[in-house]
Amino acid sequence: TRKPMVAGNWKMNGSLELVEQLANAIKNVQSDELDIVVFPPFPLISSLQQQNVVVGSQTVSENQAGAFTGEVDAQLIKDLGATYTLVGHSERRSIYGESDAVVADKFARAQHVGLTPILCVGESEEQREANETELVVAAQIDAVINKLGVAALKNSVVAYEPVWAIGTGKTASPEQAQAVHKFIREKIASADSDLAEQLTILYGGSVNEKNSELLFAQPDIDGGLIGGASLKAESFTAICESA
Ligand code: 13P
Repeated sequence: TRKPMVAGNWKMNGSLELVEQLANAIKNVQSDELDIVVFPPFPLISSLQQQNVVVGSQTVSENQAGAFTGEVDAQLIKDLGATYTLVGHSERRSIYGESDAVVADKFARAQHVGLTPILCVGESEEQREANETELVVAAQIDAVINKLGVAALKNSVVAYEPVWAIGTGKTASPEQAQAVHKFIREKIASADSDLAEQLTILYGGSVNEKNSELLFAQPDIDGGLIGGASLKAESFTAICESA
């Protein structure tokens, strides 16, 4: 059986004040039966870590330390006490032009320094309407498998985040999300069934305290990656309690 996980992606939001608020709130809902992880902007990683919150970065450079102005080395993120990093979030793909290949490089770099990558995948509205959801999601996962082998997914998490559901208030229905999660698990099971059985697969996209319980009750949904609602202590802790 897989341990549920609730992750909060703050995106380009947050402050020292929010660190205090959220760290205090999370203390009240922490338990051995749930993994809670927060992904703040880089400058807040240390402060959250010092408050005993399990923390990750929202992206990492695919390169090792060097002349890459504005980038952040995965090793430094690890040294600051982070344990996870997101890779391939749809905003990174669409706004900053990250290709499947670059995302696979970031995934590799994260694992190399001992960070657990959370590989974000998901289709656009156009792709869903063209019945390409499975095709798109499979290609995003295959970019990692083809580069590193399926075993690399062992120390990772997958987050299914349909682009049309992110920040829109249009959540995938539990059935829609479950269908894609099942597809992902079966795809990986065709290469390694034990690995697939153990793999944590999160759903993200307009998750809130009202819809989280039904989503998390689906057999292949192991928790959530929460954007907007992770910035409000009451919402985020309620979502944690529903997992
Ligand atoms: P929202 O929960 O704001 O839709 O964002 C989801 C997301 O992108 C998490 O990574």
